[in-house]
Amino acid sequence: MRKDRLVQFRKKLEEKQRQLVEEVGKTVQYGKGTEDDSIKDLGDQASSAYNREFQFELGNGDRRLLKEVVSALQKIDEGGSFGACERCGEPIAEKRLEALPFARYCIDCQRAIEQEARMAAG
Ligand SMILES: [Zn+2]
Repeated sequence: MRKDRLVQFRKKLEEKQRQLVEEVGKTVQYGKGTEDDSIKDLGDQASSAYNREFQFELGNGDRRLLKEVVSALQKIDEGGSFGACERCGEPIAEKRLEALPFARYCIDCQRAIEQEARMAAG
């Protein structure tokens, strides 16, 4: 991949990383805020438990994404494998990287992996 393209993707990834760090930080804050709700009535407790779980899920998703973003940045820094599919080694389409700069697989492999996951689940 051309160097100026790499620089562009790096910028995108860094921006995403900043966003995610902020989101994950917020989620932690919410978690702290809702811990001390013992004096509320049962309905409130149930709904705040639900919210807590929801925030936790959201936080997990962000954290997972953050890991992918960080590993994509590492690939750029180490110079080499960024933009190459981790499964088949073929270059990932730049259009796909535009939308998902942290993509680890080309579209074909992504589909194959999703299909395998579905088959394993059912
Ligand atoms: Zn592939």
